[in-house]
Amino acid sequence: MSIAVMTRRQDMIDFLRDHSKKPNTKIGFVPTMGALHAGHTTLIAQSASENQLTVVSVFVNPKQFGPQEDLSKYPRQFRQDCDLCQAHGAHVVFAPTVEEMYPPGFATQVSVPTLNRILCGEHRPGHFDGVATVVALLLNIVRPDRSYFGQKDYQQVQIIRRLCLDMGFPTKIVMVKTIREADGLALSSRNVYLTPEARVLAQAIPQALGKAAKLYCDGERKASVLRDCVLAVLKAHSLVPQYAEIRLAEDLSQRVEGVLTADCVFALAQLVPSGEISVRLIDNIILSEDSEWMRCLEELSHVHIPGDSL
Ligand code: AMP
Repeated sequence: MSIAVMTRRQDMIDFLRDHSKKPNTKIGFVPTMGALHAGHTTLIAQSASENQLTVVSVFVNPKQFGPQEDLSKYPRQFRQDCDLCQAHGAHVVFAPTVEEMYPPGFATQVSVPTLNRILCGEHRPGHFDGVATVVALLLNIVRPDRSYFGQKDYQQVQIIRRLCLDMGFPTKIVMVKTIREADGLALSSRNVYLTPEARVLAQAIPQALGKAAKLYCDGERKASVLRDCVLAVLKAHSLVPQYAEIRLAEDLSQRVEGVLTADCVFALAQLVPSGEISVRLIDNIILSEDSEWMRCLEELSHVHIPGDSL
């Protein structure tokens, strides 16, 4: 049997009302923009293992793209996405049109101003308002018990956490750790834009974060040392990041400049030249003594980078 696909809000609402009547039916929700890869399918599989019903949304949200960004070229592969959703245990794909989500007259914007201007927000004005608006709308349609988001977009997770807390959306936000290629590059729908040469250059990102991870695992706690190490690896590949910041992991509220005494996130964004274009890639590591995160740091610090001489 093929997976159910809903394109209308009301059909989605009706389907969920009919299918969640049984006692103890928990709904898990994985919002995506499609072009699904192993990062997305890990979220879907986790939701399927923790809930009776898993909904995946596939919606390329125009409100989160800036005027100079790649909305029209964003990769789309809907049939394959549906097959992947089904193969990883999802029950329904919600794939509305832009008009269905934003009918004429739609005027509301959801914004988390404390978090939408830092890090990626500084370089992508309006992006996180677009994200917060579509996620609020989707949560209101799906009303999930649990919603799954990737650590790769750490700032997005924090914005959605804040949004749900402030607006009383009764969903648990589950953050799933970043899924990486064998050489450490975080999986991203945008990786398809990398030429073979740019793909090699992009290895500098996990290599840089991996070196900082190793320093942290070895006991280094000075923010400047960790930051300088990342910048040096990138510089060796002639790369200068858009930002490379260590912030408090709890809520990203403070940039950490001195000694790390609480859990932190080291987040960076890098434009990678790729033929005629530049591909903007983001990545982060959680600097925490918690054993789960230490394991992630160790894994990344051991990734073998061909030609690594630094
Ligand atoms: P997107 O389709 O890019 O909007 O991503 C949909 C969801 O998948 C978001 O919660 C992302 O954070 C998550 N995601 C994307 N790439 C990865 C990855 N490499 N590892 C884990 N989660 C990811």
